[in-house]
Amino acid sequence: MCDVIVVGARCAGASTAMLLARRGHRVLLVDRSTFPSDLRLSTHLVWQPGVAALKRWELLDELVASGCPAMTTAVMDVGPFTLTGAMPAADGVREAYAPRRMVLDTILVNAAVQAGAELWEGCTVDELLTSDGTAGGPRVRGIRGHLRNGRTVNATATVVVGADGMRSPTAAQVGAPTYLERPARQGTYFTYWSGLPSRVNTLYPRPYRSVVTIPTNDDLTMVAVNWAIDDYRAVRHDIEGHYHRTIAQIAPQLAEQLRGSRREDRWIGAAVPSRFRRPYGPGWALVGDAGYLKDPCTAQGITDAFHHAELLADALDDGLSGRRPFDDALADYERRRNAAVMPMYEFTYATSALDPPTAQEVELFDAMRDDPVLTSRFFGVFAGTVPVPDFFASLSAAA
Ligand SMILES: Cc1cc2nc3c(=O)[nH]c(=O)nc-3n(C[C@H](O)[C@H](O)[C@H](O)COP(=O)(O)OP(=O)(O)OC[C@H]3O[C@@H](n4cnc5c(N)ncnc54)[C@H](O)[C@@H]3O)c2cc1C
Repeated sequence: MCDVIVVGARCAGASTAMLLARRGHRVLLVDRSTFPSDLRLSTHLVWQPGVAALKRWELLDELVASGCPAMTTAVMDVGPFTLTGAMPAADGVREAYAPRRMVLDTILVNAAVQAGAELWEGCTVDELLTSDGTAGGPRVRGIRGHLRNGRTVNATATVVVGADGMRSPTAAQVGAPTYLERPARQGTYFTYWSGLPSRVNTLYPRPYRSVVTIPTNDDLTMVAVNWAIDDYRAVRHDIEGHYHRTIAQIAPQLAEQLRGSRREDRWIGAAVPSRFRRPYGPGWALVGDAGYLKDPCTAQGITDAFHHAELLADALDDGLSGRRPFDDALADYERRRNAAVMPMYEFTYATSALDPPTAQEVELFDAMRDDPVLTSRFFGVFAGTVPVPDFFASLSAAA
């Protein structure tokens, strides 16, 4: 029997497994994927607070060694002019990175194994094992799954953690209550390009659509187009045509550069709803997208997964060591998670509407043209190094 089984071995699950194993707990990490492998449905910008977590965990050198380009400035083309600014540091880390998930997740899985976690890869969890008898419903006590050769496997643990992504089978089986649920307001299609001469992370926001470029490993650049949700549904019949036409309208120089570049991957698309789930119950907990999902437009998912893995590992360590009752420790995990993300949840949801800029936003962009400090703070809001409420409070105070 283990202390903890973690279902899902990517940025939330492998991090949680690693942190618990480093504290001496017996951890089984299970994923239907094998590693190294890509997670296709994700771009991969990790902001400075996420990179600072990798540094705390002593994994940053490995990421840097992968050749992934560092980003210290951000660029936003608002149409009439372009804003460029340094992104404020987090815990002394000035760089953001956008590593391919194949690179990032493999670093995390290896770190979990090095810390002592047992890895079952290529193992799909089919159901949770439960026993009767707790006030909060049946108690989860393990997993039943199958390997790629069809063999059935079982394992038991004090706690099963669902880090199994936005469609979390764990959350579905335990019936984790959902709150603040909202539908997707935009959808994205992206692919990877080689040979782009300018490899700068740039956002081109326009009413009801936007374009994003982010440099990643292997000299590739991820170029995404986002559309308001109805338009996103409408472009599905001709993704390539709409993708190129939208870029030509919004970012003609980029469109010209793409003509001289090579598409290296297929079209990948998604529209993501937003929601919280209660992340714990008898014998189970949730982390990452399984417990908290939001639109990817502010690229918070990986950075949040790292932070929430730390919060959950602290709570489980408290429970497993008997320092606190599990329920107290896990209720605290939910409170701390929600307090940390709530302003960004609202900001992300508002941003995902892709609405035309308000009069105040146009004024703000104008003010940023001659104010590098303000521009830098604005980019810090996206990076999570300038708290959303602080930035908007400082604007109101200045008005
Ligand atoms: C289009 C798009 C773009 C995005 N861009 C960014 C970005 O730039 N930056 C950012 O920070 N975030 C981004 N995100 C969000 C980010 O991808 C997620 O927040 C992040 O991947 C969540 O990590 P996770 O570990 O919770 O889940 P996942 O990364 O989804 O991993 C879940 C794992 O669980 C495993 N699993 C599921 N079911 C089972 C089962 N039954 N048995 C065994 N294993 C199972 C899966 O195989 C998978 O490996 C984006 C998301 C989308 C959709």
